[in-house]
Amino acid sequence: MTSSRWIGAHVSAAGGIENAPINAKKIGANAFALFTKNQRRWQAAPLAQANIEQFKDNCRQANIPGSAILPHDSYLINLGHPDNIQLDKSREAFFDEIERCEQLGLSLLNFHPGSHLRKIEIDECLSRISQSINMALERSTGVTAVIENTAGQGSNLGHSFEQLAQIIDGVEDKSRVGICIDTCHMFAAGYDLTTKAACQESFELFDRIVGNQYLKAMHLNDSKTPLNSRVDRHESLGLGHIGQEAFSFLMNLEATKNIPMVLETINSDIWEDEINWLRSLSYERQ
Ligand SMILES: [Zn+2]
Ligand SMILES: [Zn+2]
Repeated sequence: MTSSRWIGAHVSAAGGIENAPINAKKIGANAFALFTKNQRRWQAAPLAQANIEQFKDNCRQANIPGSAILPHDSYLINLGHPDNIQLDKSREAFFDEIERCEQLGLSLLNFHPGSHLRKIEIDECLSRISQSINMALERSTGVTAVIENTAGQGSNLGHSFEQLAQIIDGVEDKSRVGICIDTCHMFAAGYDLTTKAACQESFELFDRIVGNQYLKAMHLNDSKTPLNSRVDRHESLGLGHIGQEAFSFLMNLEATKNIPMVLETINSDIWEDEINWLRSLSYERQ
């Protein structure tokens, strides 16, 4: 199948990183997300050459190009941390994540921007995040830092398009920074996606404030919580407060062509069905 739509899910890499592309292929995906290390630990052993080679081999066999693979960094990392020692720790861990991507031949790294923990001003936190990205990009090549929009839960920043634009504004190399829009987070942060007209309006706003050229990936999730709840709870597609319309809209949006679109929905047993349903929504399907 030839497709300009790259659709998959955040698959397990349990038992070795090389298992992720196998798990993606099993559900009919031609894109996937993964953790390249345990997402709840600071330390991880370096990737072994044998695993790296097997990973690349399995991606080739699954016909999944590096551009359709979206590694996600550790949940512990806070690139806007108010405490300088903790900030350094996060920056080191983030750089390690970038290095792992380089070793795997991957060009994107998806991460949550950061939290001010009510200890510093929003502007200061956003500037720390930009600085963290600058430092990581300076020490690496070929990997684009892909900032994920958040639901705005607690003191998490990056829930508004203005904040995302402000982070990008502080990044020196604009060619290696981008955005991953998570539909659940977007909706929980107050951007309506319940009708085609609402989707049009919300995504036009994104283009105006951030710019479609920065859209490098999508997380496709419905939301268990209502519009503007600021609470991040994923739901299977069509079963939450967002409903079906948004996904039909996104499967036909020019800006989402050629970027990985990855499910993080709660029931992995139906990922294959969700992927098939998404493909059926695209008008350009052969
Ligand atoms: Zn997400
Ligand atoms: Zn989420």
